Amino acid sequence: MPGTEATGTPRPPGGRHPAEAHHALVAHEVVLLLETDAERGLSGPEAARRLERFGPNLLPPATGGSLLRRILGQFHHPLIYVLLVAGAVTAALGEYVDSTVILAVVLVNALIGFVQESKAEAALEGLRAMVRTTATVVRGGREHTVPSAELVPGDLVVVEAGDKVPADVRLVRVAELRVDESALTGESDPVTKDEVVLHPGTPVADRRNMTHSGTLVTAGRGAGVVVATGPETELGAIHRLVGSAETLATPLTAKLAAFSRILTVVILALAAVTFAIGLARGEEAVRMFTAAVALAVGAIPEGLPAAVTITLAIGVVRMARRRAVIRRLPAVETLGGTTVICSDKTGTLTENQMTVRTLWTPDGTAYQVTGSGYDPSGTLRDADGTAVTADASHALRWCLLAGAACNDAVLTRAGGRWELRGDPTEGAMLVVAGKAGLRADEVAERLPRTDTIAFSSERRYMATLHDDAASGASAVLAKGATERVVGLCAGQMAADGGTRPLDRAAVLAAAERLAAEGLRVLATAARPAAEPAAFSERELPGTLVLTGLQAMLDPPRPAATAAVGACHDAGITVKMITGDHAATASAVAGRIGLLTGPRPGEGEVLTGTELAALSAREYPAAVDRARVLARVSPEQKLGLVRALQERGQVVAMTGDGVNDAPALRQADIGVAMGRGGTEVAKDAADMVLTDDDFATIEAAVEEGRGVFDNLTKFVVWTLPTNMGEGLVILVAVLLGSTLPILPTQILWINMTTAVALGLMLAFEPKERGIMNRPPRDPARPLLTRALVLRVLLVSALLIAGSWWVFGWERDAGASLAEARTAAVNLFVSVEVLYLFSCRSLTRPAWRLGLFGNRWVIGGVLTQALGQLALTYLPTMNHLFHTAPISARTWLHILGVALLAALVIAVDKRLRPAPG
Ligand code: ATP
Repeated sequence: MPGTEATGTPRPPGGRHPAEAHHALVAHEVVLLLETDAERGLSGPEAARRLERFGPNLLPPATGGSLLRRILGQFHHPLIYVLLVAGAVTAALGEYVDSTVILAVVLVNALIGFVQESKAEAALEGLRAMVRTTATVVRGGREHTVPSAELVPGDLVVVEAGDKVPADVRLVRVAELRVDESALTGESDPVTKDEVVLHPGTPVADRRNMTHSGTLVTAGRGAGVVVATGPETELGAIHRLVGSAETLATPLTAKLAAFSRILTVVILALAAVTFAIGLARGEEAVRMFTAAVALAVGAIPEGLPAAVTITLAIGVVRMARRRAVIRRLPAVETLGGTTVICSDKTGTLTENQMTVRTLWTPDGTAYQVTGSGYDPSGTLRDADGTAVTADASHALRWCLLAGAACNDAVLTRAGGRWELRGDPTEGAMLVVAGKAGLRADEVAERLPRTDTIAFSSERRYMATLHDDAASGASAVLAKGATERVVGLCAGQMAADGGTRPLDRAAVLAAAERLAAEGLRVLATAARPAAEPAAFSERELPGTLVLTGLQAMLDPPRPAATAAVGACHDAGITVKMITGDHAATASAVAGRIGLLTGPRPGEGEVLTGTELAALSAREYPAAVDRARVLARVSPEQKLGLVRALQERGQVVAMTGDGVNDAPALRQADIGVAMGRGGTEVAKDAADMVLTDDDFATIEAAVEEGRGVFDNLTKFVVWTLPTNMGEGLVILVAVLLGSTLPILPTQILWINMTTAVALGLMLAFEPKERGIMNRPPRDPARPLLTRALVLRVLLVSALLIAGSWWVFGWERDAGASLAEARTAAVNLFVSVEVLYLFSCRSLTRPAWRLGLFGNRWVIGGVLTQALGQLALTYLPTMNHLFHTAPISARTWLHILGVALLAALVIAVDKRLRPAPG
């Protein structure tokens, strides 16, 4: 619980203090107050004690309001109001049986709606846990990666570019730290942070010495003390205020809800007209009133928005099972319509398991390297096949040293296995140095690092400044993309360690040759006796000596080729957008079938430089044509997405860095990597791949198509049902004849079939060949003309069928109750047969196999039991004015229903209507 005032007076260990106060204290006061250590952080046992005491660093799950509110929300529907009024009126008129039935129906409907909605929400809520958020925390003097939920007040956390701030933190050290606080303050420009003490009255948005939970680090690095976790954070306060439940709305649900609203108004007007006509005819007011209510209840597709949400939620769960976590529900819809997938290469199309295969030194020697994985056992062999070590030549030694010391990765051996913490490219360079006899710890000891120019996708190189223990001087080491490193060099190192003039053409040609084999090539450079003062990005160019090339293998992911092929069959173009070299990228692209041929065709490979040189007019067409876009900077990705969208494409784009966020937001489907991606990218994305695998995107598209099919199937099934129910009454009143189906019976049909039959379509498995048809045009309406006609046809069949059976039974001397029971059973029978037809929009029902969707079978059996109860149970007979019918009548009903099914099948055959 919050303490009193944060004035520095002793507190209970780890006591929490009002967040308002921490920004007004000097950093070390905060450290004292929270009984922690600005260098070593908390001890492990103390952190565990505090976790016990303060609870996990989590926000309470968003539920969209209290239970009562959510239950009441189920009654907030025009249809329910109509029913409640109808119930009241019938009760006032003494028709207690009818009013009880109406009320029971209202209650059951609300209950089912509530349960379904809760299930859909729970499914979505559960997904959040699948995308693990972690934080870097210093405990007992060592950095650890822990789940963000385990942070406690007093923890010393480290945040850097790409991280999501895991709790409210008072900063104690910052290095060019910039934070996007829009989640909290709405201000989209990143804020620069520092550690200075602020006035106590400073509002949250201006507290520069704090970072708050949920905000995103866009640049730099910082360390600070956690002052509040979970619900105590500023984000927690906002969360409490607005109860930020994930909305279940998507463009489609919104459109359907709008459609239902208009339909409701039209139907209510129609019901009023029916009532008026009946009265004018001199019919009894009560009878006409209930008829009008039945018309309204029957015709309004009230289950539609809920069913759509449920179908989407089921789709989301299916996608999650295939390791694609949907962060925004509309993505499920859009995925099915994807026409272009722009994918990273490294880690998505390839394994991102780098192994250096070849080392090249400027004297022209190529060394082959054996061994694989992160185990540094393997050998370097020179051109004659002789095993060599780093001592073979000075250039080789400095090439390996640059790779190993200008490096942030750490290799550890745990349980006999070598594990890497850091970037696989850097891991590979540590491993090859090890194979040549240079151990990372010895290198670090000989060349302690004093300064760094960090790697970034824009800079494409990394450089470090070291004290050289051997010579007593300083040394600069660098590694990175060949053309960038060559730009830093004036000379190249000879085998004896001397400097020769740089043979730029020879170096670039060697790099090109290695890249053409699909190897990722990094150049290395050094300056053994450097001036520390000149170590800056501006002064570095032209001061280094090229020491060699390291070429590494990164095998394509096993599933990538098949997934790219599946995308092509599905009419989806796959583009590789990579920071890597064009030759490497093209070779990998050729191997996984991403190009039209084994070698790139005209215009199929474009580099970032070529892109930048294109005119605005040429740009979109060139981008559309290109299959491989190499040496592309994250900034260029945004332009790529826009250009493709201008050409009418629906674009899925992957990204993992901070700078990818704008492109991810712009894309129709932004895809972030769950393992390798930054929190910033995940935050901007619509979908997160928990395995970083390209094949998962393809799987998600497939599921997306399935979801859209199922939505269409549900709509195509439900609309005729509603129209049929409403029109049966309307026609009867207009013709002035006896109602073939009574209002309470309409209620029965409506409520039972929607749940037992219609909803089961949401579980329909994907259709065969779903990835062999072209992507759905986003502009195409949900129901094509052919489907609208089918809806009208089935409505007509339902009405005609029920009138036919009703009339026939009456003519054969059946009572009104018996004839109506027959009409109700006919209605439901046709719905059942139509349900089987709707399992596929194109293929005939009998081709689908009876057990393809067990839910449908279960639903039909439940409905059948319900119909038997309605027909033969005396209580039901009393409540719903039904009566037992004979076997002969059943035969009659089934005969008519089969005839209707036959007409539907013929229509499907003549006008197949894919979704
Ligand atoms: P993708 O965009 O497909 O993931 P990528 O991983 O190759 O491709 P970047 O990480 O932006 O893209 O790398 C671009 C280039 O920068 C690489 O081709 C390589 O030459 C160089 N590079 C990559 N990692 C490092 C690093 N840790 N240090 C120095 N240079 C690097």
